[in-house]
Amino acid sequence: MSRYDLVVKNGTLVIPYIGVMRAELGIRDGRIASVSDRIAAAEGDEVLDAAGKFVFPGAVDSHYHVGIYRPLSEDAESESASSTVGGVTTILSYFRTGHHYLNKSGPYEQIFPEVLELSSGHFYTDYGYHIAIMTGQQLDEVSLLVEQYGVGSFKFYMFYKGLTLAADSTRGAEYTMAENYDLGHLYVLMERVAEVARKHRAAGRIALSLHCENPELIRVFIEKVKSEGMKGLEAYSRARPPLTESLSIREAVVLADATGCPINLLHLSSRAALQSGIEMRRRYPHLDIKLETTLHHLALTYDTAGGIKGKVNPPIRTQQDADFLWQGILDGEVDSVVSDHACCFEENKGGDLWTALPGFGGSSLLYPVLLSEGSHKRGLPLTRVAELVAANPAINFGLYPKKGTLMVGADADFAIIDMEKRQSVTPEILHSAQDFTPFEGMELSGWPVHTVLRGRRVFSEGHIVAGPGIGQYIKRPIGLHGERTSR
Ligand SMILES: [Zn+2]
Repeated sequence: MSRYDLVVKNGTLVIPYIGVMRAELGIRDGRIASVSDRIAAAEGDEVLDAAGKFVFPGAVDSHYHVGIYRPLSEDAESESASSTVGGVTTILSYFRTGHHYLNKSGPYEQIFPEVLELSSGHFYTDYGYHIAIMTGQQLDEVSLLVEQYGVGSFKFYMFYKGLTLAADSTRGAEYTMAENYDLGHLYVLMERVAEVARKHRAAGRIALSLHCENPELIRVFIEKVKSEGMKGLEAYSRARPPLTESLSIREAVVLADATGCPINLLHLSSRAALQSGIEMRRRYPHLDIKLETTLHHLALTYDTAGGIKGKVNPPIRTQQDADFLWQGILDGEVDSVVSDHACCFEENKGGDLWTALPGFGGSSLLYPVLLSEGSHKRGLPLTRVAELVAANPAINFGLYPKKGTLMVGADADFAIIDMEKRQSVTPEILHSAQDFTPFEGMELSGWPVHTVLRGRRVFSEGHIVAGPGIGQYIKRPIGLHGERTSR
């Protein structure tokens, strides 16, 4: 009689904060039951041979927008499947009331169960949600969301503040469906998040994520760029220059200091933005500040991202900016790398730079970009890659050590990766509903051969081999919702 449901033989494990070592995995009931120098093949009902390959912890893609432009269930299905191509086994997606998503507003007590209902049965990865608190009424729901619904993280968009979505020609109040979406709202939100974070500190980290761009400056720079008749992605970067990021970052940190709120500075796109994040962290060492960047800000420039199709907020910058972000990764300043996946069709990108929808998908490239552009090209250690995409997002969002590492007791989520496998990026190999990719034509080395969620193969040798509904909703922080953690 076999002792394990699955045995992974002959592989090299990449264990965050520990190192790279030859060892075999025995998996039982969806969890890692054994990490050993040798486990006999006869002990497993199923055996995966990882000879010559690396076993990485399943990535936690902690910045995602399931359902932003398409029906949520449909989007969850196609896009979470695509994520497994990149070695992702957990998705943490942003949700907010207002324009897009479910296109309505109201208390989350009514709306969030609907989100969970639309999600259930449609994910190929495990998943959770970060919630943007948009209205005054929702401010009172922060602790309910944490304690009842397992929403362990929140969001604020600095650039909605001025309600100057001139680029969308949509009036801000209609867009946010909120009354006072400004720094005052942010201050109160930080107070609420800080309070609940302190209360549940032992159960895992609870924090507020911030999209940092300043709307008043964006208004002025858009006018300038339009009057100069500039076009293309470079124009978009000049319309929302790095200065708008650094100003917002500094505002956010001043308020975090006043309230003691743990914060995540999302998708830092530029040298100025990362530098501001680093400076603020040095200046306020007692604060809990995490710095995030994205695949596209690392791997693309406004000259290489395929024109308007590469429109995203904050914009894609220059090679010098990307180089500085890579340096921040090599120096250990950047905590996590994410896709900021927002599935968007080419027809939504057509026509005018200012009316094209912002965002695109990239989750299927999470491990490939970091391994190819990071490890192969820049000498980024494999353990560091596993920390950036798996362990750190799991720790920062209350999922560790259930997710984000390879150890006995953890969920058996992993990607078996062939570091030498080389592919040119096309929309087809990404398995997303999105019909284009700004990464098209990039030659990347280091691709998952198998992606395994709780002991079951989801992506295997180029194909999705599981059905939708394999993914489970995870309440965070896990220490508050039934998972044993250390104190
Ligand atoms: Zn985003």
